[in-house]
Amino acid sequence: MTLRTGLLAISPPHPRAARIALATNARRAFSPTSHSNSRYNPSDFTTQGYSTQAKATSAANSHITPRNLKDFLDRYVVGQDYAKTVIATAVYSQYLRQRLQQEQSEESHPVEDEWPGHNEALPKSQIEKSNVLMLGPTGTGKTLMTKTVARCLNVPYSVSDCTPFTQSGYIGEDAETCVARLLAAANYDVSAAEWGIIVLDEIDKIAGVKVAHGKDIGGEGVQQSLLKIIEGTTLQIQAKPERSNSNTRGSAGMSSNSSSWDRNNPPAPNPMSPSGKGEVFNIRTDNILFICTGAFVGLDKLILSRKAKGGMGFGAQVRSSAGDTGKHETILSDADVASFSKDMPIYIPVETEPTNRGHTGTNNYREEHYNILNYIEPADLQKYGMIPELVGRIPKTCAVSALNEEALVRVLTEPENSLIEQEKRLFLADGIQLHFTSASLREIAAKALKMGTGARGLKAVVERLLLSCKFETPGSSVKYILVTREAAQLKRAPLLFDKGQSQAFETTYKHEEDEWLEELQEKDSVESFSQWRAASAAGG
Ligand code: ADP
Repeated sequence: MTLRTGLLAISPPHPRAARIALATNARRAFSPTSHSNSRYNPSDFTTQGYSTQAKATSAANSHITPRNLKDFLDRYVVGQDYAKTVIATAVYSQYLRQRLQQEQSEESHPVEDEWPGHNEALPKSQIEKSNVLMLGPTGTGKTLMTKTVARCLNVPYSVSDCTPFTQSGYIGEDAETCVARLLAAANYDVSAAEWGIIVLDEIDKIAGVKVAHGKDIGGEGVQQSLLKIIEGTTLQIQAKPERSNSNTRGSAGMSSNSSSWDRNNPPAPNPMSPSGKGEVFNIRTDNILFICTGAFVGLDKLILSRKAKGGMGFGAQVRSSAGDTGKHETILSDADVASFSKDMPIYIPVETEPTNRGHTGTNNYREEHYNILNYIEPADLQKYGMIPELVGRIPKTCAVSALNEEALVRVLTEPENSLIEQEKRLFLADGIQLHFTSASLREIAAKALKMGTGARGLKAVVERLLLSCKFETPGSSVKYILVTREAAQLKRAPLLFDKGQSQAFETTYKHEEDEWLEELQEKDSVESFSQWRAASAAGG
């Protein structure tokens, strides 16, 4: 049973019965006690992979909690602990609101008082939603996080890039498009869409005034339009003619194959009128959760200068130099952490022992809590060019940190359906085993890091690396492919072994792994790469 099924069930004539059905189903949506009722249905994760671990987790969880949501995110998103906590809590609160609102409206409508066409009473008290702003560089998991959490709860979800947004009447997209996408992703089920999640990506691109032909059409004007939508308004959305094809419905805002929508549900009502003209839907935006994301380049400088003016003694010089370390530019240098910690914006548990995060020696909390962007205040965003009304509507903020080389290795291998896992599966379909040595993974991560596009660079590096193998090996006698460090450095092709050469394959693999361990031990006395990996995983 899914939330959507429940929402589709609320079709008057009998409002009372409909509301009870809705509330019951919503409650069920949060109580995945049996496998069939699970929010973690394997069919929901066709592009995210599904493992026996997922099955075990769903069975173990008697109900959805913020912690369960965060645990779920941990399986797909590497690092970004603080942001994951904020998102899990925000999404959980959103659906708690939904439940409370439904319960309230049930209580305020005794059956005997009802007659067809009566006016709905307002709920006793309204709990305001808490939209979220996630700041940080590209390719660090912002979209992945929101997509994963929406899938987990099987709610309609859409992502809209704010860059093309212009004021109504000008060339570009209207801000309302984001709601239209959500509605399409909900298969034109208005009730479901009204409780969905909209991700407004690149929101920093509409900061400030963007003048064209003497008028601000892309900056504050768009922010004003978004403000109305985020605050809550009723929009009239016309279904687009191309959406009449039911195969394409539900795909707006994200690729159709990644739709979170329950595939077992019957198709939604056709949004097209018999004349072929798009039907008009009235949709309220009060309860839609908005998660805004953006890189906000340069915002850290504003924060630092505010702090410097406030007598904290901080200035641009407190920033650690990024570049060679691969760290986020907004991470404070070690020298300034002590003084900065006096002014922490969030509670940090006292660390009795530094968590071993590998040979960098950084601890579990370092990145999250000393990321300057976590110290953001509404005034900083206003200075950056966001209108105060909009800032006030997005009360929760969290920063994500750039992924360093170490984190990129983890992204390659650890998440369910990781990139390496996907490649292995592809080759296995042809009966070929693909292996990467630890040193080669490190090389791949290092190359991706240099690209400066976060984890996005990994796919390009791996694709280039494996191109010749993908072309040559299917249909050949090759049974094993070994990607060595030299292959990753593009000094030679990956090693190919035939069926009878399994011994040679294993020896070569072991030899390079041993060399790598020795190197590691020399570097920082970490006993083995796998031990480091185990420690990293345990550290979260
Ligand atoms: P952005 O922060 O720009 O929204 P995305 O979330 O779209 O970045 O990340 C792009 C891709 O990079 C994802 O689909 C995922 O494969 C990978 N990726 C990025 N960050 C992470 C992460 N923290 N953990 C796992 N994969 C990640």
